[in-house]
Amino acid sequence: MSDFVTPPRTPLNPEAKKSVFSLLKARAAMGQKSLSFEFFPPRDGAEEGLWNTFDAVLGVNADFISVTYGAGGSNQAKSFEVLDRMAPEILTVGHLTCIGASRASTLATVKRFEQAGVRTVLALRGDSPKDNPDALAQGELKTALELVELVHAQTDLEIGVAAFPEVHPESGSLDHDAKVLAMKQAAGASFAVTQLFFGVEHYTQMLAAGASAGVNIPVIPGLMPVSNAKQLLRMAAMSGAAVPAELAAKLEHSDEAEARAIGMEYTIQLGKDLLAAGAPGLHIFTLNKPEAALELAAGVGLI
Ligand code: FAD
Repeated sequence: MSDFVTPPRTPLNPEAKKSVFSLLKARAAMGQKSLSFEFFPPRDGAEEGLWNTFDAVLGVNADFISVTYGAGGSNQAKSFEVLDRMAPEILTVGHLTCIGASRASTLATVKRFEQAGVRTVLALRGDSPKDNPDALAQGELKTALELVELVHAQTDLEIGVAAFPEVHPESGSLDHDAKVLAMKQAAGASFAVTQLFFGVEHYTQMLAAGASAGVNIPVIPGLMPVSNAKQLLRMAAMSGAAVPAELAAKLEHSDEAEARAIGMEYTIQLGKDLLAAGAPGLHIFTLNKPEAALELAAGVGLI
């Protein structure tokens, strides 16, 4: 635990707001931290939560937002619709997956992102969908590194990539992940956002492994507000992150309201510890719900 006090965020000049890298640089130069939020394109009929959350996020002057993208292009039309509406309002990072895709279809998607006003992509491999376990073998692009190379060669877009404080589930070690991240940096990535995780030590150990491999791009921790015990355990299982035994036990023996309070307190402390440990900012996974996301942002002192 730390007694770090988050400095208030002051307005950025328009030039700094043109890319994630430039805004992180501007915030760091002012001794400040960035605040950003992730959304997902909803299924038809579930749009209200998304747009309420987006309005709330605009209301607290977030630095940027990102929108996830279905592996294999699922729900693609909705992704474009969401980007069309968000990108004119705020610096918008379009997640882009390549699993199962051809180079041509990937470039067509990138072009469509650009038409929406997207200037930054988060280049990801994606995972094989449950109904198509062979997706990786079927596509032309096999890794996010190849996607970074393609986007860098063919466009002027800013490129971010994923990082894994608790080690990518298919990777043997932090050191292997660090080498892969260093290759993505060399191929043109200028920042990274992490998978969710539950201990500040995972972040600092990942940064140390990255530094040994030559990684010097900013790595923004991805943080999920723990407001629902069942959801937390599901998301953790999906991402390969380990919920600390003490937290899991506390959540298990609490009713929903107590679990929310315990989980939020835990995440707010984790956010503060990450900022104190030198994280350039926090990227909050909203799950298209405003309350817990803004409570977390306020709890860590970013709004
Ligand atoms: P890669 O970098 O390709 O890595 C996959 C595995 O291959 C790793 O184990 C890596 O070590 C290994 N590897 C990669 N390149 C090499 C190489 N050259 N040599 C040796 N080994 C290599 N998924 C979605 O479907 N949609 C999203 O919108 C989405 N958003 C995400 C956002 C964030 C912040 C994060 C952290 C993940 C997100 N994901 C998303 C999930 C992501 O697609 C999966 O975690 C996927 O398993 C890995 O993606 P990657 O980009 O790290 O892949």
